Amino acid sequence: MTGAVLFAGCKPEVAAGPDGRIIGVGGRARAAAGRGAEVVRLRGTTWPGLIDAHIHLEGLAERHLTLDMTGARSLDDVLGRVKKWVAGLQKHSWVVGSGWYNDAWTDTAFPSRHDLDKAAGNRPAYLGRKDGHSAWVSSAAMKQAGIDRNTDDPPGGVIDRDDQGEPTGILRERAMHLVAALVPRATDTDLDAAMARSLAALARLGLTSVHSMDTARGFGSFQRLHARGKLPLRITYNLPLADLDGAERIGVRSGWGDEWLRIWGVKAFLDGSLGSRTAEMLDGSGTVRLPQKDLMDMIDRCARAELNVCLHAIGDGAVRRALDALAPHRRASRYWRPRIEHAQCVDPKDMRRFARIGAIASMQPIHAVADRELADEYWPKVSAHAYAWGVLERAGARLVFGSDAPVETADPLLGIDAATAWRRHAKWHPDLAVSRASALRAYTSDAAYAVGLERDLGALREGLLCDLTVVDDGRVVATVVGGRVSWMRKPSAASPRSAAGAR
Ligand SMILES: [Zn+2]
Repeated sequence: MTGAVLFAGCKPEVAAGPDGRIIGVGGRARAAAGRGAEVVRLRGTTWPGLIDAHIHLEGLAERHLTLDMTGARSLDDVLGRVKKWVAGLQKHSWVVGSGWYNDAWTDTAFPSRHDLDKAAGNRPAYLGRKDGHSAWVSSAAMKQAGIDRNTDDPPGGVIDRDDQGEPTGILRERAMHLVAALVPRATDTDLDAAMARSLAALARLGLTSVHSMDTARGFGSFQRLHARGKLPLRITYNLPLADLDGAERIGVRSGWGDEWLRIWGVKAFLDGSLGSRTAEMLDGSGTVRLPQKDLMDMIDRCARAELNVCLHAIGDGAVRRALDALAPHRRASRYWRPRIEHAQCVDPKDMRRFARIGAIASMQPIHAVADRELADEYWPKVSAHAYAWGVLERAGARLVFGSDAPVETADPLLGIDAATAWRRHAKWHPDLAVSRASALRAYTSDAAYAVGLERDLGALREGLLCDLTVVDDGRVVATVVGGRVSWMRKPSAASPRSAAGAR
């Protein structure tokens, strides 16, 4: 045995050495692997392993721990799910869940705490909206948090109120923390089991790496799973702005960690979301979550600490502020790879600035599919440059793609479709689509570059880590990380070719 592995039957064939790096590709693979190599038989096209550049792993794990309201069609549907869920709970337990989305309901009005009180049996309840920018809480939860008609809106947040000035139970942006802080947390053991399930599901989708936007709690879980050899894919972790103090004190820098788990950037929110009507627009609408002075201070500190920045900016106003703040820091350090997360709406005047400033556009094509109607309704004047992958690419910006799961599906093949063919089918500004080659680059080599791993990941080349996504007939058939199969489709007698081809 040579310790080498040959991935055979796929195009191109690839050989990995015992250290998990590529030793041969295409015509060179068999000779490089040698006679004693283990052979994994596959078919289909071999891509460099797909990377999701923006994902929330804690949010995905939460779905196994809390009530999931994804896909509910109406308020009644949601309340029905709540009633079912609480049947298994103790009398005073918290009801915790997420995924409701009133924009997809028959009646799109925001729900109230009174609806929830009945369904939750007067328990304290905290239900996050699909986009994570608002929460629906019960009267008991508000009481525990001390929120009543006399409570002021916290900075950067809104407590919705009715005509009489009474809180309705909807908390937006930073007001969510008033109640979120009280929600009891799952134990580490439960969290790790849920996390392992979520990561396995991502491997099934063909993902070999992710860039996670999570908190210290998630990072703790990744470390425990890593110590037990249980990571099926590589994780680059971005910490929240609230933890920048700690990162500065211990002196951690971008890239610290190993091939499986490493630290990269600091994530900060400049504004909210389109769905929650809190995207900060140049027309003055929306919510400023991080004022410019604080943003400039944060970037200064990160540049000095050699930590990268991931700036959440959805509205054209927030995107402009991010570019303004990044402009003076061009080439702040050797691996300075600042990113603007989402960049859903970019003013035409700002398109070229991405390349000039060296800001990476970290976008999630699948958002366009879900948001199209909302964008046409709320951004009628700007939807021609919303989710504008094609224009940004032509303006020289480097694009990296992800999913923002659990906000949207993590399936990268659906993301690639959204970025390429979908615009044409949907007849929605087809000029904003990108080519398949560009979409793949945004999910592989450019995503690797965005976290300083361009010499290790993102291409089928000797010396790089052997991460592969093998796709046949529009379906992932195998996911390989570091020369080891992390997931493989079981061969089925009757392959449903026609159904899969419909994707
Ligand atoms: Zn996100």
